[in-house]
Amino acid sequence: MLKQPARLGLLLIVSAGVSPAQQTLPNPQVTVIRSGKLVDVDAGRVLTNQMLLVRGGKIEAVGENLPVPAGATVIDLSKMTVLPGLIDCHTHLADAGDDEPLHVLQRTSAETAYAAIPNARLTLLAGFTTVRDVGVYRAFNDVALRDAIAKGIVIGPRMFVAGAYITISEGAGAMTGLALDMQLPWDLHYGEANSPWEVRQKVRQLAHRGADHIKILSTGAVLTHGSNPKSIEFTPEELQAAVDEARNFGLRVEAHAHAAEGIKNAIRAGVASVEHATLIDDEGIALAKEHGTYLDMDIYDEECIQEGAKENKMPADFLEHDRDLGEIQRRNFTKAVRAGVKMSFGTDAGVCPHGINARQFAFMVKYGMTPMQAIQSATKNAADLLGKSDLLGSIQPGKYADIIAVSGDPLENIRVLENVKFVMKEGKVYKQEP
Ligand SMILES: [Zn+2]
Repeated sequence: MLKQPARLGLLLIVSAGVSPAQQTLPNPQVTVIRSGKLVDVDAGRVLTNQMLLVRGGKIEAVGENLPVPAGATVIDLSKMTVLPGLIDCHTHLADAGDDEPLHVLQRTSAETAYAAIPNARLTLLAGFTTVRDVGVYRAFNDVALRDAIAKGIVIGPRMFVAGAYITISEGAGAMTGLALDMQLPWDLHYGEANSPWEVRQKVRQLAHRGADHIKILSTGAVLTHGSNPKSIEFTPEELQAAVDEARNFGLRVEAHAHAAEGIKNAIRAGVASVEHATLIDDEGIALAKEHGTYLDMDIYDEECIQEGAKENKMPADFLEHDRDLGEIQRRNFTKAVRAGVKMSFGTDAGVCPHGINARQFAFMVKYGMTPMQAIQSATKNAADLLGKSDLLGSIQPGKYADIIAVSGDPLENIRVLENVKFVMKEGKVYKQEP
């Protein structure tokens, strides 16, 4: 729980000059944070000795020597570096998370939902105050988890969810590998569509049922039985239908794509981001730059796929799909960064265990980003990709008080982000360690 250091409490009383009655009644709505260093991701610089005034879940003011309102709670982070809450643009919090997707058939929908609760908590406590969750096998488990978090029933990050995968039958987002005579329940094949009009129907249904964005699978996948990441699945017409129909509802589309042609089809159709972008070629990089498409490249999770292989937990066909792709994706990440393509931070959490999302930062730096660019990908850029720059992504007056802190300077050692000491979401403190 929140502890108010005695020294700062005294300072508060002296500087605020209020009556004793006011001093003994802390105002739970108002918090003042003293930061040592503060990462200003908008300007790409680090500020010192800033104070943050938080009121009612939002940041009200940022600056040196702000007056401390009567009854405010003061949090001393003067020995830490303060950053905006991190955003992971590619998570799967609402699935149980298993190397073998068919295991979903051994759990009821309710069991899957309960199993997802720790995923949400681990993600928030790791400093990720917002996620863009990009699909579930059990349709709408993500909508339910998002709403449970928003109501305070479950502890977790603010979620923006897809509702289901839009996939071709037997495609990358389908539950495959079953005997032909097996009948799936409705929620395990909800997002299947096989023409532009079926795609439009799915988008309409998902929008009606509370999706915040649309996830479409443009190519085959690594972690799907009977799939080939190098194959094209949806046609350009189907991808275009998804983007056009989503736009009618004010929604953006993200496309899973490994194969170069599938990536380009998605960019030309106007998706907001390409997920994985594994085999992107030079033309694809140029197209992404031209269209302002974000690449959301999960360049850490190869480590977890290989770990799963060592422990014999990863299905053999998945490892066959994955061969060489990890290294190629990392090389293409470097190319895309050098070309100046817009990059967001997405880990595919669920492939790796939830809560270690920040390990990807060191890989992003290793493969060509500056530490500031890596931090911006998970803050400013991620908020832009979500279309929520007015509320998220930096520490500015008017935005949500999503604030984290780490010991040390992440611009000198990006790995300090793997050990977040302080987490505030919408003005509420969830973690505070010395
Ligand atoms: Zn994914």
